[in-house]
Amino acid sequence: MIIILSPNVSKKNAEFKQLMDYLEKLPNIQTRVHEIQGAQQHLTEIYLLGETAKLSKEDIEEFAGVEKIVRISQEYRVLGRHEDDDRASSFTYNGVRFGQDNLNVFAGLCAVDNAKNVEQMLKILKENNQQCTRMGAYKPRTNPYSFQGHGKSCLPYVFELAGKYDIKVVAMEITHENHIKEITEALAQTGNPTGVMLQIGTRNTQNFELLKSAGKQDRFPVLLKRGFGITLEESLNAAEYLASEGNSNVIFALRGMKTNMGDPHRNIVDFAHVPVVKRLTRMPVCIDPSHSVGSRAQTPDGLLDVMHVTAQGVIAGANMVLVDFHPNPKEALVDGPQALLMKELPYFLEDVQIAHDAYKKRVQLATAFHAKNG
Ligand code: PEP
Ligand code: MN
Repeated sequence: MIIILSPNVSKKNAEFKQLMDYLEKLPNIQTRVHEIQGAQQHLTEIYLLGETAKLSKEDIEEFAGVEKIVRISQEYRVLGRHEDDDRASSFTYNGVRFGQDNLNVFAGLCAVDNAKNVEQMLKILKENNQQCTRMGAYKPRTNPYSFQGHGKSCLPYVFELAGKYDIKVVAMEITHENHIKEITEALAQTGNPTGVMLQIGTRNTQNFELLKSAGKQDRFPVLLKRGFGITLEESLNAAEYLASEGNSNVIFALRGMKTNMGDPHRNIVDFAHVPVVKRLTRMPVCIDPSHSVGSRAQTPDGLLDVMHVTAQGVIAGANMVLVDFHPNPKEALVDGPQALLMKELPYFLEDVQIAHDAYKKRVQLATAFHAKNG
């Protein structure tokens, strides 16, 4: 059960204290308080855990300061969608809105290699009115002898350059809780010129201690990749770990699944699950066409497979696209073969827009249909 308090009623108010006194006396019930700072207002939610089935919704509704009560199913308590649940499915970070009803593109380097390539990437993003990017500093690699990323040494120039080109959010994978501290320190050292979205990769989807660390802080939103060899339910529960620790600014990313069926793609593209995740949870959904497809394979119609699958995800309502680009893919230290080229950025963005416009038209069509047919 979730008790949603009226906007701006918080832990400090007498109404809150009165209600908590009552709740704490209930047998076999534990409480957890979540505070959500929105752009306009402060929301406080009280989660009741334990034997909630016998509680009377009406009794609790009578308390001053209670706006609404939502009975939750067992699944994904914080991030899930429940009956009569109209909690927000969006959040704003560093001036950029992330929601189940909009779309942000994060084009950038899979791995930071040098400042020159970072600058070239960020410059072209700015020229194309982009405010987000991806930049990998900590790379989880299959082979221990492969390049592992420059780690914290590259953070100052990545953040300074992001600030120089007005990039508001940099998606950056972390593989250890120390990386959160290193990112925080590098941002402070450079005067907080940009924002960071912590990315938890497919190899760490069920690294529960890492999830708890990223969930305990609420400065940075988290992009959680679906585990490539586990069920969707397991991956959504992993997302819930972040929220259960207090951070519900979470975006869920589909990035293809491992199968033993091999080619043609690096992973089987799972973007048919975009609407499924939106139906089950309130998280914005990201697609990663680069790590799904894994190459620059092209069809006879002249379109790259990466662009085909991007369009498939976007036309199904994806809210974020995480995509690898590189100024000189032959020089890239990680995943060069799947990178798109600088000259392809405006073309890629226009192709994404076509698919996004088609999605919006489909929503209009569905709305008109339901208005007429109930
Ligand atoms: C990445 O985005 O750089 C990455 C390693 O992705 P994944 O965790 O999906 O393999
Ligand atoms: Mn990669």
